[in-house]
Amino acid sequence: DSTLSDLKDKIKSYPDFPKEGIIFRDIFSILRDPACLKSVIDLMVAKIEKLKWNDVDVIVGLESRGFILAPLLAVKLNAGFVPIRKKGRLPGVCKEIAYTLEYRSDVLEIQEDSINQGQRVLVIDDLIATGGSLGATCKLLKGLDAKVVGCLVLLELDQLEGSKNVDAPVESLITF
Ligand code: 5GP
Repeated sequence: DSTLSDLKDKIKSYPDFPKEGIIFRDIFSILRDPACLKSVIDLMVAKIEKLKWNDVDVIVGLESRGFILAPLLAVKLNAGFVPIRKKGRLPGVCKEIAYTLEYRSDVLEIQEDSINQGQRVLVIDDLIATGGSLGATCKLLKGLDAKVVGCLVLLELDQLEGSKNVDAPVESLITF
């Protein structure tokens, strides 16, 4: 199995993508390798169990790369999967929140009936940078009276201290 340092070494970095001054960390360079993909999921499950975050009803994944990891983890944890998407892409009554990303601002939405009051939720994304996306997500979930046990990401850009902008515990597998 791949270790965390093997995984970190495999992440390809693209300077000036999607705009100048941003170093984009590409998780697809690890997901395309079958052994690495399995290790990512196994290591995330081990971390969730160690944190005692495994007793959840729902795993929430953020569009788009959170949609890859969240359902794989939901199957392992016997939880459901609920998407948070950019505005205008989910049918039915949605709750929305405006947020600022590392390189743009946007609006996130969740279907109002997707989570019941008091349900335990774990939030998954590929990466935390400024924490804008996860911070907005936690606010949105708290507005539905969900209990956010925590947020787990594959990569954390730790100089940005994004977890300070999130009103829930944030954990990561790999830090840059
Ligand atoms: P934040 O809201 O924490 O500033 O930015 C995190 C969000 O932007 C995540 O949803 C993530 O997918 C995306 N993102 C920002 N920078 C990167 C990057 O370098 N690599 C990847 N894979 N995603 C990024």
